[in-house]
Amino acid sequence: KGFNVAIDGPAGAGKSTVAKKTAEKLGFLYIDTGAMYRAITFAALAEGIDLHDGKALGKLLEKSELRLESSNEGTAVFWNGADITAAIRTNEVNSNVSLVASHREVREGMTAMQQELAKSKNAVLDGRDIGTHVLPDANVKVFLTASVEERARRRHLEQLEKGLPSDFEQLKKDIAKRDELDSTRAIAPLKQAADAQVVDTTSMGIDEVVETILDLVKE
Ligand code: C5P
Repeated sequence: KGFNVAIDGPAGAGKSTVAKKTAEKLGFLYIDTGAMYRAITFAALAEGIDLHDGKALGKLLEKSELRLESSNEGTAVFWNGADITAAIRTNEVNSNVSLVASHREVREGMTAMQQELAKSKNAVLDGRDIGTHVLPDANVKVFLTASVEERARRRHLEQLEKGLPSDFEQLKKDIAKRDELDSTRAIAPLKQAADAQVVDTTSMGIDEVVETILDLVKE
């Protein structure tokens, strides 16, 4: 059995950056589960599938091949062989992914894939329901949070760094909306596992957060 680290939390808490660095330091596999929900959202939008139709989305997932490739650059995402790494980070995907991720058919397919990917491997997974549903027996569970202001500020800086336009107030609204949808859905909502360690990163740097998690792993 592999050693699994689950990192859950709301949008923009720094999960993917922290999870990736933690995995690197430990020599573990990093699995970005948000990228998987983003991938099917992108594909469904591209194919014009009704995002309220869980059954159609489940079928789309079943007949498609979704592959994640971890590298130093981050996670590359392939859908039926096509590289959609950049395409899954658009505002359109951001504002539709929670709806797609709310369907039972989608979550069952993704959860099975995630469990298979993590099985018998040392891995760090980040998401919303890893510690509560995907890997309830994970060796270490972390719930990463930060104030909504801070999370929006980080996204805002990221956008500006990429030379993209960014509206701080709008970002704050979008993040709050996504958290609301993710934490109120019926199936596997965003929630802190009872046995998770809460790490509030509002006034912490990335390396400090990574060190905190590494300490939890070594305990
Ligand atoms: O982490 P990221 O922001 O990329 O996640 C995108 C969306 O995917 C989340 O807002 C949520 O709706 C969904 N998600 C999920 N369960 C996970 C990971 C992500 O429902 N384990």
